[in-house]
Amino acid sequence: MLADLEKLLILQDRDRRLIRLRAEVADVEPQRRLANAHRTAADQEADAAKQASLRLESERKRLELEVESKKEQISKYAAQQWQTRKNEDYKALSHEIETCKRAIRDLDDQQIAVMEQLEAAEKRSAAALEAQRKARDDAKKQLEQCDLAEARLRKQLADAETARAEAAAAVDPLVLPRYERILKNRGDKVLVGVERGVCGGCHMKLVRQDIINTQNSLEIINCPNCGRMLFFTPDMDVRPHD
Ligand SMILES: [Zn+2]
Repeated sequence: MLADLEKLLILQDRDRRLIRLRAEVADVEPQRRLANAHRTAADQEADAAKQASLRLESERKRLELEVESKKEQISKYAAQQWQTRKNEDYKALSHEIETCKRAIRDLDDQQIAVMEQLEAAEKRSAAALEAQRKARDDAKKQLEQCDLAEARLRKQLADAETARAEAAAAVDPLVLPRYERILKNRGDKVLVGVERGVCGGCHMKLVRQDIINTQNSLEIINCPNCGRMLFFTPDMDVRPHD
């Protein structure tokens, strides 16, 4: 094989590694965001559950106070009954007392309902707190893992960049720009094999002379369709398709 091709294949290998490492580094930040998002969601849920409990608790207190105030009113009406001499006033006050008693029974029923809701809300709140604790632990671990992974990847990336620069320096400076241009336009498949008479990159059928030239490896042949560099190794089957 042409020496240039061998050097280019090494360069392509290193470029592929670089591209893979860069993608892995870029993937760390979304993982961090995901870990933080899970934690934030758990925080919000725990907070909402706590607020729901607090609302019910204050509703329960409000009902309690209302019962107290109705009881006070009853005492007041009863005292007025003692003082009044008019029968109709007495009856009116009795009616007021009855109304207050009915209101107290209603309030008691409401209190029971609120207590039941409160009990359920407190259970939900406890579960949400537990979930929050777990989510925070998980997020902490995940973020630590992200930091470790990023540090490791950045080290690998730095090494890969050095290795890439070394491989690029070994390539003929007249050939390198051609390679770089294809890399930029076509991604990490710059050099492709010739299998069964087609380009390994775009799969277009190649003309016989290009196949022969590739086999002979006298110069670097580009695919006339996609422009990639073609190469041949003895294990490749160059017989064209029928
Ligand atoms: Zn092609």
